Amino acid sequence: AKQAYVRTKPHLNIGTMGHVDHGKTTLTAAITKVLADGGSGTFIPFDRIDRAPEEIARGITINIAHVEYETANRHYAHVDMPGHADYVKNMITGAAQLDGAILVVSAQDGIMPQTTEHVLLARHVGVRHVVVALNKADAADPELTDLVELEIRELLSAHGYPGEEIPVVRVSGLRALAGDPTWTASIATLLDAVDSYVPVPDRYTGAPFLLPVENVLTITGRGTVVTGAIERGTVRVGDRVEVRGLGTALTTVVTGLETFGKPMDSGQAGDNVALLLRGVQRGQIRRGNVVAAPGSVTVHQRFAAQVHLLTAAEGGRRTAIASGYRPQFYLRTTDVAGEVDLGEAGLALPGETAELTVELSKPVPLETGLGFAIREGGRTVGAGTVVTVLD
Ligand code: GDP
Ligand code: MG
Repeated sequence: AKQAYVRTKPHLNIGTMGHVDHGKTTLTAAITKVLADGGSGTFIPFDRIDRAPEEIARGITINIAHVEYETANRHYAHVDMPGHADYVKNMITGAAQLDGAILVVSAQDGIMPQTTEHVLLARHVGVRHVVVALNKADAADPELTDLVELEIRELLSAHGYPGEEIPVVRVSGLRALAGDPTWTASIATLLDAVDSYVPVPDRYTGAPFLLPVENVLTITGRGTVVTGAIERGTVRVGDRVEVRGLGTALTTVVTGLETFGKPMDSGQAGDNVALLLRGVQRGQIRRGNVVAAPGSVTVHQRFAAQVHLLTAAEGGRRTAIASGYRPQFYLRTTDVAGEVDLGEAGLALPGETAELTVELSKPVPLETGLGFAIREGGRTVGAGTVVTVLD
């Protein structure tokens, strides 16, 4: 028999954010080194993180590195991204569902434009917990560092975070990577702060089950299997579920559950799973459907949204969009055409954040706060979130 999957520690998704060159990737590598030297996990060097392959998440191309590590209490999936445009796309579409973020600020440079923009984005997409790594503390004047710390606390407070109580840890990713004991200890302090300050999110497992279908496979003699990452809730073998979206509406039962080839009793939010569904034919289900707890999702074609249009430098359009514009919308694993209405404004320029309504060509499960990407001609031109579901 196959060995069963054993869940030993709570799992959290975190990531580094902050201005370019403030040391996000160096810090990510240093975290893995300090933990590996302490006997947990594998050291991942800077080059392997910085040269992360391009990934397609929700139909948008982003450069993203996934690093995995464990502290004494928790298992973390950590994301690091090279470019500012990657952050904008990734945060707005929710491709990285961060339970917490490590805001990296160089003590030498202080707050820079992307520092502010990432704090704003984090707040906008609902990242509730931020821990600050005041990096390059090895090379900065201590009194200047005190000032930078004050400035960061004020910035966080100005954006609705509890700036007074947020842990701010002075670190040096570079010196820790070099094995310097003082700065190695600073990384351990930072990890302790993340462990204790970022709570395990319970909204995840307590919510009704939902899995966006990424792939559909037929296993001869067993039936139809769907794969994907559980967005929320918990699923067990024997659970009744429904398949919705893109005109599909059917009810079935989960008869098998696996993760990375290992059978499991229960899957929960954040897990990548394969579900075996009773009596479902391959043609009845496809990528873009969702499998969900019965009655927990409703499908819609119209919604109001807030959208950020990427600039040409970020890979977006050169020209404005106008009412009647008809791009592709990527919502979860769905890719569907839709028409935009910009209301009285009539136009929105690259670089702007706009309010608009969208009419999709097919009904899909929608809810307030859902992130999406906008694509045309094979490239991402914007990203947004659903503000109000219409009909
Ligand atoms: P990122 O763009 O935020 O990912 O920044 P990187 O990790 O690529 O680092 C940018 C530059 O800052 C590199 O030259 C690093 O060697 C340097 N750097 C990173 N962390 C530290 C640090 O703790 N101290 C010092 N002195 N330099 C650092
Ligand atoms: Mg980097």
